[in-house]
Amino acid sequence: MVGCETAEFLVENEEAVTSVTILEMLDRMAENVSPTYRPFFLARLRKEGVVMKTRTTVMGITDRGVKVMQDGEPGFIEGDAVVVAVGFRANPKNTEPFKGKAPEVYSIGDCVKARMIKEAIEEGFEVGRKI
Ligand SMILES: Cc1cc2nc3c(=O)[nH]c(=O)nc-3n(C[C@H](O)[C@H](O)[C@H](O)COP(=O)(O)OP(=O)(O)OC[C@H]3O[C@@H](n4cnc5c(N)ncnc54)[C@H](O)[C@@H]3O)c2cc1C
Repeated sequence: MVGCETAEFLVENEEAVTSVTILEMLDRMAENVSPTYRPFFLARLRKEGVVMKTRTTVMGITDRGVKVMQDGEPGFIEGDAVVVAVGFRANPKNTEPFKGKAPEVYSIGDCVKARMIKEAIEEGFEVGRKI
């Protein structure tokens, strides 16, 4: 999702950008985008000329582009700039210092596990009701 949104931003806002290729190791592009929005979002990227490659795993980055494994075949995609958008992971150490500093301490949202806004709001709502 973040990689696709960055691609959209680059083609729409950066005149110096002549082409953008999104590499995704999964079978589907923008898998975690809402199913009602996803088809329109991907159609917009296609219309902007963004090239999208699924089942393409990044194996390495060089000064000329990206080494890939596409459908089990090694390949190389030339490029002069690479945006790495490979997801998020919660770091439990970030919430450790808060423990014991108040009678009740709760963790919600992305600091528990990186997800979407909906989960953070739901968990905040539940904790709010509890206290
Ligand atoms: C680029 C990007 C695009 C996204 N797009 C979507 C989307 O389209 N739809 C969707 O549902 N979700 C999206 N998400 C995910 C969504 O933003 C998160 O799931 C959501 O913001 C989690 O809410 P949160 O309150 O847990 O954390 P955050 O929104 O990250 O809020 C945590 C806040 O705590 C502050 N903070 C951290 N440490 C401290 C400290 N020690 N003291 C005080 N403050 C501190 C931070 O500065 C931050 O403001 C996106 C995420 C990113 C990164």
